[in-house]
Amino acid sequence: MGYVILNNLNIINRNNIMNERIISKKMNECELNDCSNKRTHGCFCKKHKEHYLLDENGMIINERFTSNISDYKVLSLKKTCESLHPNEKKHIRKLKKKELFQYFLIILKYSSISPQELNHIKSVQNIVKNKIKERKLLKIHGPACINREICNNSEDFYTFEDIKDIPQKYFFSYKDEKDIIWGFDIRS
Ligand SMILES: [Zn+2]
Repeated sequence: MGYVILNNLNIINRNNIMNERIISKKMNECELNDCSNKRTHGCFCKKHKEHYLLDENGMIINERFTSNISDYKVLSLKKTCESLHPNEKKHIRKLKKKELFQYFLIILKYSSISPQELNHIKSVQNIVKNKIKERKLLKIHGPACINREICNNSEDFYTFEDIKDIPQKYFFSYKDEKDIIWGFDIRS
């Protein structure tokens, strides 16, 4: 009699344990059936995090990017960078893990820039480029190369060619000791 009661209790206990196990599996265990590790990445554990971090093609999912280099393998970094920048494949293949990770960070950063921001960046770039060009021109062609109207003379001294009409590559100017600017055609 005592034996039967004990047996029943055992069955009840085992059922309870099984129920609890199913519940806990759903709550915080890795989604993979044969894995009982704790979830660390979405519904997956540390060991199976790639199920969460990569898509079905093995590409990094931007929205789930962890910013932690140890979460990613060289293969997935390489694959993702190559598919996003196919023209840079040759360069990407030579990169080591750290460099690949940096490369991917840059891609991510640029992909988050809005078209308006990108336009703004481009216009700033153009301004800087033009400034550099201007400075080079000033150095070579003198102070009036950007604005010929600041020349004291309106014609070239020898050819009488209008200063305004001298082709850019032949136009030169200089400032004398009295700070007066003179323009001329290098061919004259
Ligand atoms: Zn797992």
